[in-house]
Amino acid sequence: MHTWSLDQALKLRSQSPHHILEHQKAFLTAHLDHAALTPFYSGFFKHSGLDIHEIACSVDLSDLPMTSREDIEKSPADFHCPQEFMSDIVDISQTSGTSGSPLSIPFTRGDLDRLAFNEAVAFAGAGIRQGHRVMLSVTLDRCFIAGLAYFSGCVKLGATAIRSGPGHPAAQWELITEMQPSAVVGVPAHMLATARWAVQNGLNPADSSVEIIVAIGEPVRRPDMSLLPLGAELQEMWNCNLVSTYAATELQTCFCECSQGCGGHVHPELALVEIVDENGTPVPDGQPGEVVVTPMGVEGMPLVRYRTGDIARLFAEPCACGWNTPRIGPIEARLSQRLKYRGTTIYPEMIFHVLQEVPQVGAAYIEVRADFDLSDHVTVVVGDREDGSMDREQILSLIQARIRVKPDLRIETIESVKKRMFEHGGRKPKRFFDYR
Ligand SMILES: [Zn+2]
Repeated sequence: MHTWSLDQALKLRSQSPHHILEHQKAFLTAHLDHAALTPFYSGFFKHSGLDIHEIACSVDLSDLPMTSREDIEKSPADFHCPQEFMSDIVDISQTSGTSGSPLSIPFTRGDLDRLAFNEAVAFAGAGIRQGHRVMLSVTLDRCFIAGLAYFSGCVKLGATAIRSGPGHPAAQWELITEMQPSAVVGVPAHMLATARWAVQNGLNPADSSVEIIVAIGEPVRRPDMSLLPLGAELQEMWNCNLVSTYAATELQTCFCECSQGCGGHVHPELALVEIVDENGTPVPDGQPGEVVVTPMGVEGMPLVRYRTGDIARLFAEPCACGWNTPRIGPIEARLSQRLKYRGTTIYPEMIFHVLQEVPQVGAAYIEVRADFDLSDHVTVVVGDREDGSMDREQILSLIQARIRVKPDLRIETIESVKKRMFEHGGRKPKRFFDYR
């Protein structure tokens, strides 16, 4: 099993991109060797005649097939490692189930160590240090791996975890006042609700101990790294440094922004990231495409070239923080949520970003139905924060001005919108209902 050293990792990131790439060869060789122990990959490696050590040496995965979520759904056991590893499974987590039914992912003791390392180095990049207090405003139960990962990362870094969970704003505020955390890990909407609650009660979140917010679960930036209205409001209200993080349970890997806030750093020991077009061909640096990840060093369920279904860009130029590792920009859309609108392509995320500019919108989801060949029928359902004051035409003109589409708009109460978004009983709110 690999020993994950934080000191070595921090040194590696400041070395030249060439040196980092050289270093990755050993990680990739070990990973491909390990993946070859699973029924799914052993079959392919045997029959393809490819030399996986040669592939690892070139750090070029393009000859290897991609793996999709459907491949795992078809036969999950084919991705599991031999009994010697599977007998060391110490945790079984589940994906959030926002795209299909949840997948169960086995974690070995080594996988949890790897994850702790991942979060520790990510926290370090975000400016969190040994001795800092970090409030984890995320759930640690319900088979959720991220909460456990953040906690382990704190322990590995030598920071102090405050496991508040995602509670009522008043309870969150009380803990912040009592425990004085310098950083909070949480969902942007929850952190905003806590800030608004404080202001309504004559308190000022900008004066609190919180200096860093690690935003999980939804993007806070546009592709050009400027903050979306949600992110800008969050940063201003808390007077904090806002960093965003992207992760997927299947990948057992997180990509967190450093304190510069310009995309999630790819950790060279942990992952190789490719951005590809719809034919699987790599796109140029800075262009959007599907994020394909090879998470290295995973024992229980190793994956090679996993198609995330998320669209983002990769930026290879060195970062102002001093780390020379590539960064993944904000997730711009989900590939499966592509909408056809009168011959052009749009994504729900584009509509949600426009809605962030309308303060009266308290919650929103999108319904899509099949209409005719060139178009889907798109209905945007918004919850009115101030009951009755919402201007339908203003919202529609704003959407039309920004992304040149005019969907149907339904205005309801916030309660009824939120009820619909949570009635599936999952961990995350559902914002996209596809009836095509
Ligand atoms: Zn950086």
